[in-house]
Amino acid sequence: MKKFLVKPETKVKLSKYDPNDKGDFKGGKEEGLAKLEKLNGKLESLQELLYAEHKHKVLIVLQAMDAGGKDGTIRRVFDSVNPAGVRVAAFKAPTAEELDHDYLWRIHKQVPGKGEMVIFNRSHYEDVLVVRVHNYVQPEVWKQRFDQINEFERALAENGTTILKFYLHIDMDEQKERLQARLDDPTKRWKFRLGDLEERKLWPQYMEAFEDVLSKTSTEYAPWYVIPANRKWFRDLAISTILVDTLEGLKMNYPESEENLDGVMIE
Ligand code: ATP
Ligand code: MG
Repeated sequence: MKKFLVKPETKVKLSKYDPNDKGDFKGGKEEGLAKLEKLNGKLESLQELLYAEHKHKVLIVLQAMDAGGKDGTIRRVFDSVNPAGVRVAAFKAPTAEELDHDYLWRIHKQVPGKGEMVIFNRSHYEDVLVVRVHNYVQPEVWKQRFDQINEFERALAENGTTILKFYLHIDMDEQKERLQARLDDPTKRWKFRLGDLEERKLWPQYMEAFEDVLSKTSTEYAPWYVIPANRKWFRDLAISTILVDTLEGLKMNYPESEENLDGVMIE
């Protein structure tokens, strides 16, 4: 899955990334789902260890085009994790109060504390994506934000946060199918907004904005991964594999008990 990592300071062209890629994975959907189930079990244990050790903070950022699968990823990758140990923070269009502050204000309030795992469903990257594409601020303003974001994430990392960022890469045909499915299925229609069609027309502008994000803000301390996401099962498998590998790399341990409890018997 290392293949999907964006190495720092590389110029990303998304047209070179195949949204149907399976990397080195040779199996099909069935094998993929079986592997995911095993990984889900590992993630459950790792999350418990993270909580028990109370040392590391884990931040997972999800960004994608509409219908890119952020919600589905959260549902399936974190399927087995104790809900008490993870938190999802979703960032919608900013409120008046949020707009009165700098764009990182609402973000900083949601970052994980010790032992916590937080998933960002959209993030501060909206401030160089939707904000840029719609000219909500002048180019001089959003252009400064790449450095600001890198510095912000560096500060989080230096203070014990492990950061993983995933861009879920689908193509326009896949989006078409998924948006149509939302329209056709009465139980999914609530997810559809007419505005999604306006955003779809801006696909090339969004791709350019994403390419800048990936090229300028993938760092050693907060790497981006471009996840092929046309196949939902592979998307989940890729993210779960990277997450489990990263958590295993933290070499976490259960904490020592405060006193020697050996031989203590409960009456
Ligand atoms: P789904 O992908 O399932 O449709 P969603 O994440 O799109 O879910 P919505 O409520 O449909 O949820 O959309 C949230 C909206 O908030 C998006 O259109 C997004 O671009 C917008 N948004 C988020 N952050 C900002 C921001 N900083 N400035 C302006 N708009 C923002
Ligand atoms: Mg939406």
